[in-house]
Amino acid sequence: MSAAASNTARYWLDEAGAVASSRPPVFPVHAVRADFPALSRTVHGRPLVWLDSAATAHKPRQVIDAVSDFYARHNSNVHRGAHTLAREATDLMESARSRIARFIGAGRPEEIVFVRGATEGINLVAQTWGRSRLSAGDEIVLTTLEHHANIVPWQMLCAEKGALLRIAPLHDDGTLDLPAYQSLLGPRTRIVALAHVSNVLGTVLPVRAMADAAHAHGSVVLVDGAQAVPHLRVDVRELGADFYALSGHKLFGPTGIGVLYGRSELLEEMPPWQGGGSMITSVSFEHTQYAPPPQKFEAGTGPIAGAIGLGAAVDYLESIGPDAAHAHETALVAYARHRLADDVPGLRLLGPSTGVGVTAFTIAGTDPAHIAEALDTAGIAVRAGHHCAQPALRRYGLTAAVRPSFAFYNTHHEIDQLVRELASAR
Ligand code: PMP
Repeated sequence: MSAAASNTARYWLDEAGAVASSRPPVFPVHAVRADFPALSRTVHGRPLVWLDSAATAHKPRQVIDAVSDFYARHNSNVHRGAHTLAREATDLMESARSRIARFIGAGRPEEIVFVRGATEGINLVAQTWGRSRLSAGDEIVLTTLEHHANIVPWQMLCAEKGALLRIAPLHDDGTLDLPAYQSLLGPRTRIVALAHVSNVLGTVLPVRAMADAAHAHGSVVLVDGAQAVPHLRVDVRELGADFYALSGHKLFGPTGIGVLYGRSELLEEMPPWQGGGSMITSVSFEHTQYAPPPQKFEAGTGPIAGAIGLGAAVDYLESIGPDAAHAHETALVAYARHRLADDVPGLRLLGPSTGVGVTAFTIAGTDPAHIAEALDTAGIAVRAGHHCAQPALRRYGLTAAVRPSFAFYNTHHEIDQLVRELASAR
């Protein structure tokens, strides 16, 4: 029996990270990998081991083909021009909007605003909803584990409005101190902005409980779903999210496309952000009438090919079965945590054992950047650094960590390679 097989057999772990009594259903990982052209390339003469999907995921052939087919056959601007290609391009883009709406459980396609990514979605809410609603002394509640994309836009808003940030703390294991969070909520809380899944700790925040508590204080809730949608089934209404932001490129779709979900009532009341073509129904020098959402927030020519590619990514995920993919990933992360902790001397894991998608770590006496460089020479791609979450790392006394991250196309064998290289690099 190979080392990989014997190690796999040692650790059949269930969703909670406990040793499972039986082998989980087999996910056809090798058939799925064949859909991803980039996964068959080599780096420094070694097969690529892509453990950087939290930074950006690779794209299946189905997404690449959808984007290339758009440019080859249907390329046109949308929402205007009474000709065949304009109608085809519009239908393709609006069909993608509808499928993405269904994928995240939105009530209507009009609740899906196409943006550049999670960062732009959060900035849109800060600059429109936030600017029109906040005044001096109002409070914005964040958590310690937020990505900078869910910190800096709120700081900018606070500087402009005289509003204040309140930060919910974490326990030592990377989970949220829920009672401490609840105690931060009050009559001045206007918005709670929280990550669904942490990009550095893997923590899944208890979004529903946090949203219920926020709503009880009359606050709205924005969820940064950038690291959640690639791994978890998301239903924005079940979660109680008023806004939900995501990035297409982490969801196996193109770069330059993302989604801001907003509840209709909120999107309707919010002022527009950027002005220009496509976001109006009529313009005169005296008065401009804005289009209804989502067009009101989509000034200018949008990311048409990106939206179509993201629609194809969502179709792809549905076709491989998100639940089976998630079960495979859960087993991978649990296996990686056990092997890293057991087999690499001096390694300290970050985040809870129930974390999703990532297993960040440090190794005593070794610079994370040097570890990532050494792994790269073996064809293994991981991130090292602050992961745009400096406050989260600081909470654990760190300025940098190594972060392998996983998707459903990764294998137990790749984790064995990671562990072998780490052990030999030492
Ligand atoms: N939030 C989280 C939790 C993230 O991991 C990221 C990307 N690392 C972002 C927001 C920002 O995503 P993007 O750069 O695609 O806008």
